[in-house]
Amino acid sequence: MKCTQAEGFSKDTLFKILDDLESKTRSLNTKARATLAGMKGADSIKPENIGYTLAGSSAAKMDPYFPFETAVDVWSRSFAALGITYRGATMNLDLVDREGKYSNGFCHWPQCAWQSATGWVPSKTNFTSLATPSAVGSGHTAIATLMHEAGHAAHFANVVQRSPLFSQERAPTSVAYAENQSMFLDSLVGDAAWMARYCRDRKGEVIPWEIIKAKIETTHDFAVFDLRRLLSVPYFEKAIYELADADVTPARLLALADEIETKIEGGPAPRPLFSVPHILSDESSAYYHGYVLAELSVQQTRAHFLKTYGTIVDNPKVGADLASVYWAPGNSEAFMDLVEKLTGKPLAADDWVGRLGETAQQVLADEKKDYDAAVAVGPKFLPGSTVDLDMRILLVDGDDVISDSSTAGLAAACTAYAQWLDAK
Ligand SMILES: [Zn+2]
Repeated sequence: MKCTQAEGFSKDTLFKILDDLESKTRSLNTKARATLAGMKGADSIKPENIGYTLAGSSAAKMDPYFPFETAVDVWSRSFAALGITYRGATMNLDLVDREGKYSNGFCHWPQCAWQSATGWVPSKTNFTSLATPSAVGSGHTAIATLMHEAGHAAHFANVVQRSPLFSQERAPTSVAYAENQSMFLDSLVGDAAWMARYCRDRKGEVIPWEIIKAKIETTHDFAVFDLRRLLSVPYFEKAIYELADADVTPARLLALADEIETKIEGGPAPRPLFSVPHILSDESSAYYHGYVLAELSVQQTRAHFLKTYGTIVDNPKVGADLASVYWAPGNSEAFMDLVEKLTGKPLAADDWVGRLGETAQQVLADEKKDYDAAVAVGPKFLPGSTVDLDMRILLVDGDDVISDSSTAGLAAACTAYAQWLDAK
């Protein structure tokens, strides 16, 4: 019911796509686990160790190039360089964690954008994340969350229809359709072309190639783990909802989680299935497949842009295509139809599977080329320059407004926010 209502297609249609992805990446997963165990020992792939094994030292080495206090400036300049605007929207950003704050980043819209009989009604967005600025990796998390949630906000600010029903976030707006936009934009943070433009330390030095290279060398062969981690959730939900009523017991459910983790992830999962909030909360249950479909579409969309334009980062043609093809229709068109319209082919596993199947050497060669080109040109807008996103941004902490772009511009609001963070 949930799949049909939100996606507009049946569970069978969904699992035809997921089964294809599962079978085409199964051997990659087995091979990656064996490789990691061979390199780092059998203990390294235990669920409690695998995150540490893979993160290793690269998070700490990258940290200085993702200063937390410049995250808003970095995000706004990179969206502006893509030609993204917000059509007069207002956005409240509440980025820092505090006691009692809801424990998941999210974005919601008390006012949806729409074209009324008397004129344009811009969206109003509230956006929250759980950053702890003093923690290692907090700047990376902040910028990735900003690119993601502000990607949702860009999407919903640019739905141009004659009713607000087309730009609201619930069914028939599909999760896959919504996540496609935010995940496409947050994917840029992992690109050498993006890092070479936007990742600078507090002295303004660009992130060195050696750090990006080390990250690719230590993570590329294991990227399939992320895919399998995503896939295990919808397979678990399918198995739960297909249980006979008499079998819905705590013992059977716990055993079922173990079975699915072993079948899909190759062993006990580093993120146990029962810790995934979507499984436990009725409003978010049976839609996690949306993230898998969205990532399929992100990979297909990226491949399309790279083939068509050669570049994605700082390319305003990308923002224009997103706005006109993916965003303007809102939920008046189906997700899979929009993907086919933009990329010229039906949604399929090929581009994602192809990317995972490349050798680390191939990826390094491509990324090095992008890195050198990006360092040579630099970002379209330099750090601290004022860009026009056609949006009012309020940087807030709960009920307190720290700074407001309508007073002295976005660059000044970012500076005031950075000072507030420093003092805090
Ligand atoms: Zn999202």
